[in-house]
Amino acid sequence: MIVDTDRIETLLKETVVTEDKVASVLERGAEAQGLTLEDAALLISIEDAKLREMLYRVAGAVKEKLFGKRVVLFAPLYLSNYCTNGCLYCGFRSSNRTVARKALTPEEVVVEAKTLEGMGFKRVLLVTGEDPRWDLKYIIDCVKAVYGNTGMRIVHVNAPPMDVRSLRRLKDAGVGVFQVFQETYHRPTYESVHPIGKKKDYDFRIEVMDRAMEAGFGDVAIGSLLGLYDFRFDSLATLAHSMHLYGRFGAEAHTISIPRLRPAEDFALKDVPHPVTDEDFKKIVAVYRLTVPTAGVVVSTREPASLRNSLIHSGATQLSAASRTNPGGYSKDALQTLEQFSTNDHRSLVEVMKSIVDEGCLPSLCTTCYRVGRTGHEFTEKTKAGEMVKFCQANAILTLKEYLADYSQNGTKEALEKALIKAMDGIKDTAVKKALIEKFKAIDAGERDLFL
Ligand code: SAM
Ligand code: SF4
Repeated sequence: MIVDTDRIETLLKETVVTEDKVASVLERGAEAQGLTLEDAALLISIEDAKLREMLYRVAGAVKEKLFGKRVVLFAPLYLSNYCTNGCLYCGFRSSNRTVARKALTPEEVVVEAKTLEGMGFKRVLLVTGEDPRWDLKYIIDCVKAVYGNTGMRIVHVNAPPMDVRSLRRLKDAGVGVFQVFQETYHRPTYESVHPIGKKKDYDFRIEVMDRAMEAGFGDVAIGSLLGLYDFRFDSLATLAHSMHLYGRFGAEAHTISIPRLRPAEDFALKDVPHPVTDEDFKKIVAVYRLTVPTAGVVVSTREPASLRNSLIHSGATQLSAASRTNPGGYSKDALQTLEQFSTNDHRSLVEVMKSIVDEGCLPSLCTTCYRVGRTGHEFTEKTKAGEMVKFCQANAILTLKEYLADYSQNGTKEALEKALIKAMDGIKDTAVKKALIEKFKAIDAGERDLFL
């Protein structure tokens, strides 16, 4: 069994929150070595405002201990909005018949990726609906087209679950992270919101990350879609899923996303069965950070700017930016196709970078780990041992230096330059500082894609 949902239900029923218990769990959490599911059940059940603040503080400190001040940025790129499934909450579901559908050609995908590259992005997440007409070969063609024709340095994929053989082909095409959200781990709810299509199959979906790891993916990305069922249950189940992967393959989930339901075509906020408040959302971020401290915690543009700004202090490590959720949405003559859901943070990449800097953190466009093979088990263990922070901070600095060299005409140059100087001042390791200064010279001389 991948996730023991009975045990989670019992844990949630039996957990009694006291200040002493929370203090003791947070003391262990602060060591950044992870917590048990029992501990997570206690933390996710906190209601008291003072205890919540303590939780956020410790989670923020653990994030900084393991990853420094950096916040990684990326953008999704929607390939196709054709879908044969009927997920009741999604704009792409097959019953939405009146809306424009589009599967971008690989050439059109390149145009989109180049537009993102023009903003400064270096990593892109390809996202697609489920339709046998645009299958694995199509996705691979798109991955190859992006690598072959743009400056994108890493391509991740969020696509329907597939078998081991297909996953191996995806991995061989150079995909960094394979991402699938379970949506909800609560089987009866899962079955009721996925009434038709291949996605009906709960087991095929929950088992996909095991297949991905068998296929050679060191890095997989999971998440549950908040609002479908009780968030306490689904967040514990998501953590249990990551723990299962660690137990079987020695690697935690590389990232855990926290998608929260947004309005979509024929799906309004009033239709959300289990609404999740901002305060609960913040609690989930912090509990993920402390329970599985090596996992990236990803917050998308489904969330508003002010909330996202605050989450980078309580455990979030990655933000998407400037996102469009319709195929062709980035290009100059943006195609008027159906979007998957409406986003809630419409800032450009540079505006998000400026906010991160204003919050005292460091924007990062780093893609190093996937490319030097620091993935899976090795990434989990190095992060736990506190060895990643040095790389994360240094590589964030290098990507910011590059960004300033190539995209500095956009009015925020001064603020970003100041952040760069401050970050350099913060580097205490003389060997790292020396290496950075050398690489700065190389960037000034026109070299690109430098990392430690
Ligand atoms: N079609 C594939 C699938 O379902 O796995 C690929 C991913 S789908 C395009 C991306 C994710 O968007 C889904 O897994 C779901 O979690 C999320 N999503 C769908 N509808 C949403 C909505 N109305 N609000 C927020 N997120 C939504
Ligand atoms: Fe299709 Fe995915 Fe949307 Fe479900 S969530 S309708 S599978 S695109």
